[in-house]
Amino acid sequence: MILETYGGAGFVTGSCHILRVNNKTILLDCGLFQGKEDKSGENTRFPFKGEEIDYVILSHGHIDHSGRIPYLIKNGFKGEVICTKATKDLCEVMLRDSGSIQEMECDIKNKNRERKGYKLLKPLYTEEDSKRALKYFRGIEYGEKIKLFQGVYIKLKDAGHLLGSAITEIYIDDIEDGEEKKLVYSGDIGNNHRPLIEDPSKINNGDYVIMECTYGDSYHEKEDYFKELMKIIKKTIERKGKVVIPCFSIGRTQEIIYILNNLVEKEEIKCKVFVDSPLAKKATEVFNKHSSDFDDEAKKLLRQGDNPLEFKGLVFTESKEESKAIRKYKEPAIILSSSGMCEGGRIKYHILNYLEEEKNSIVFVGYQSPGTLGRDILDKKEYVKILGKKISVLAEVHKVPGLSGHGDKRILLDWIESFQKKPRKIILVHGEEETRLAFKKELEKKGYCVLSPEKGCTIKL
Ligand SMILES: [Zn+2]
Ligand SMILES: [Zn+2]
Repeated sequence: MILETYGGAGFVTGSCHILRVNNKTILLDCGLFQGKEDKSGENTRFPFKGEEIDYVILSHGHIDHSGRIPYLIKNGFKGEVICTKATKDLCEVMLRDSGSIQEMECDIKNKNRERKGYKLLKPLYTEEDSKRALKYFRGIEYGEKIKLFQGVYIKLKDAGHLLGSAITEIYIDDIEDGEEKKLVYSGDIGNNHRPLIEDPSKINNGDYVIMECTYGDSYHEKEDYFKELMKIIKKTIERKGKVVIPCFSIGRTQEIIYILNNLVEKEEIKCKVFVDSPLAKKATEVFNKHSSDFDDEAKKLLRQGDNPLEFKGLVFTESKEESKAIRKYKEPAIILSSSGMCEGGRIKYHILNYLEEEKNSIVFVGYQSPGTLGRDILDKKEYVKILGKKISVLAEVHKVPGLSGHGDKRILLDWIESFQKKPRKIILVHGEEETRLAFKKELEKKGYCVLSPEKGCTIKL
């Protein structure tokens, strides 16, 4: 069998690896290039034809892993996309959203191009393309061993990174050399002890491992994120203020709802919680539908009759009118909205409404890139510009970084060292080049055989 590394080799986005085995071709993920890797039009090119691909095995719903599937289908793919059932449902939400973002961004660019008399662009794919793409998805259960074709079976195990995220075990009877081999694709490996979802599964064995290394050279700081968040909320409510939390609609929002549920059930807080994002509402429905994938703590709550994503006072707002009406609510409240870095979406309006009052708190739970509105507020600039208005930063500003979705160096090493026998080869992907080389050295010191292929490398396994 042959493995070709394509996206996510030496960098983080655009995850996609091509596996050619027993006369068929499988893609491991088919993600969107984002940020600097997207600049050169990389997203519009594939080093293969869509109809050449028989299967896509999708590790999880994040767009840097799933985001080019609708485009692959537009390019002639007619096979099956295999993932967990939760990933399939999350993709319905995420890919449709991604399609509508593609359309929106294309419209903005075209307005400019029209003025200059340039040829108009077409979006990579539309929301409608994403809707069509979902018909190709097949959701399977964790632990279910399924046959893809002659001599190739797969099994998915929980990766603990996002609801539905999976580590893929591929069992191969290679007709080329008559050997039996097992390939493991780690996908994104999660962090331990995160709310709602399980810790990453350990894998017993494998001959070849394609492994992520996002944080292969650093350790996460240990912080008590729940306690910190609770303190800020309690103080803000006592002084009759609003707590505004910018956060991503899928994953982080449900995590915060879970924490707030805990506080409400224990009667530590009594106020309304507005989740102002239609995307978050849909994603929360998917989480509820797949509560069988939750960790033991969340399942215990469910058994006791407490749905951890539902409590008295929790309000999801969908329409623009409902969103605007939040401003008229005079009592203390908590508002969750996206985007996480305040660059777009409804959060901007909430920041505009509440930033100029000292009794309010703005709480950042994720990383804020330099140059974003979120970062400017976090850096406590005297003024920020929102929707053309100059606004003073008077509310309290807090940074409470939640637990990272990725395991750090310790977790990655524990994961690979839990294999009963050292794999024959580890192929490192999904990491910035410097990090990848540092992690490679670390593994080599422990006696592993490690490859760090460039994009476009062909490896015979
Ligand atoms: Zn991910
Ligand atoms: Zn990723």
